[in-house]
Amino acid sequence: MTLRRITISVALISAALAAATFMMGTPVPTNGYGVSETEVSVLTPPKKSSAKTDTVVDKIVDPVIAHKEIETPTVSVVTAAIAAVPTETKPEEKYNKEPYDKTARVGKGDTMMEILVKAGVERKEAHNAITALSKVYSPRKIRPGQEVTLTFQPDSQGANPDRFDGMILVPDIEEEVRVRRKIEGGFSAKKISKPLIRKLSRGAGAIDSSLYLAAMDADVPQSVIVELIRAYSWDVDFQRDIQKNDAFEVMYERFYTEEGKLARTGDILFASLTLRGDRKPIYQHKTKNGLIDFFDDKGQSAKKALMRTPINGARLSSGYGKRRHPILGYTKMHKGVDFAAPRGTPIYAAGDGVIEFAGRKGGYGKYIRIRHTNSYSTAYAHQSRFAKKMYKGRRVKQGQVIGYVGTTGRSTGPHLHYEILHKGRQTNPLRVKMPSGRKLKGKEFARFKKTKAELEQTYASLPMEAVVARVQ
Ligand SMILES: [Zn+2]
Repeated sequence: MTLRRITISVALISAALAAATFMMGTPVPTNGYGVSETEVSVLTPPKKSSAKTDTVVDKIVDPVIAHKEIETPTVSVVTAAIAAVPTETKPEEKYNKEPYDKTARVGKGDTMMEILVKAGVERKEAHNAITALSKVYSPRKIRPGQEVTLTFQPDSQGANPDRFDGMILVPDIEEEVRVRRKIEGGFSAKKISKPLIRKLSRGAGAIDSSLYLAAMDADVPQSVIVELIRAYSWDVDFQRDIQKNDAFEVMYERFYTEEGKLARTGDILFASLTLRGDRKPIYQHKTKNGLIDFFDDKGQSAKKALMRTPINGARLSSGYGKRRHPILGYTKMHKGVDFAAPRGTPIYAAGDGVIEFAGRKGGYGKYIRIRHTNSYSTAYAHQSRFAKKMYKGRRVKQGQVIGYVGTTGRSTGPHLHYEILHKGRQTNPLRVKMPSGRKLKGKEFARFKKTKAELEQTYASLPMEAVVARVQ
């Protein structure tokens, strides 16, 4: 037996890492909690162990690829002697030399077929290999710059072209696709999830001007900050509720490759905002029915029927100390609240509902009003433009982008004017008690209390990643 080393090019890994990093920079999708259920189940099978208090690092190991070296049987020297007798040559015995690898790089517009043929694979063989590959990975998904490692087996007599034995693709940092020649002929393919090591990180700090900047200062990754702000957008008015000396805490997942490279960040498991001395913690909890959501310490879902900040809060600075924009509250003259934000900042539907008006409306400029249940409506004025297909009668989901901040109508600068109407009358959004969402009860609440205690203990056991202490 000899060991054949299959090298996975470093360039490829870094390309995949770059792709992964790019993905992580993408804003959280409209469901509000970034990571989908499937992703969680595939990548973090030992989810339950996240709640363990004695360990904070879980190693997810796929035993199949616990080693980077893959053993492949090579024909022994004795068989080589037999192979020298031409009449007795069996197809397998002609190929008894050391196999070798060839790396091909995907060029712009290349098809898998072109790559294989160019690398010296016979057309029919290439076709068979691609057919096998297609069962686990679409060959259309290959991207320029990606590498394909092909393995060949030389013919000992040099009578035939080198035999194509298979290939390896690494679509991203977390998975590998292998195609291999089968002894009985043809090819087989499999997709392997690479082991990732899960670590929990903790970030905390005082909020100086905005939660976004404070979290950046504490080295919290951007994708986590966006999720954090979203998680609180139901409850917190990010332009008016943040005051000097407010603070945040967050505990979230990071996934590393065996080589120690950061593959991606994961979920927020625990967070807390302290606003005017009032601490508001939230905990990620998976209910018995498999629903993953954030709940406050009383088991009340962090999601409400309506959002207090129906805008991408990462782009808002808090109201205090920001004198350039008049941040108006609700008065007799001004029956809404304003969010000063750069032109083009996405505006979200504050709750599920149906659009009852979308168009120009006097001083409001470009204006959308959504009807929700419980006789509430919400209105969004001065938009620069609407998102696609925003018309009367259209159903929208909470958190869906309906338009973008602008300054149309009677307005002095880019901002969102937001109104909450109850039974057709404007109400003060600063005062309105947001209709609440789901509340955990009975056995589920007991389960939640356990989750909560475990998360708190884990959080306390983690070292601080960065401390932001601002002395004024
Ligand atoms: Zn206004």
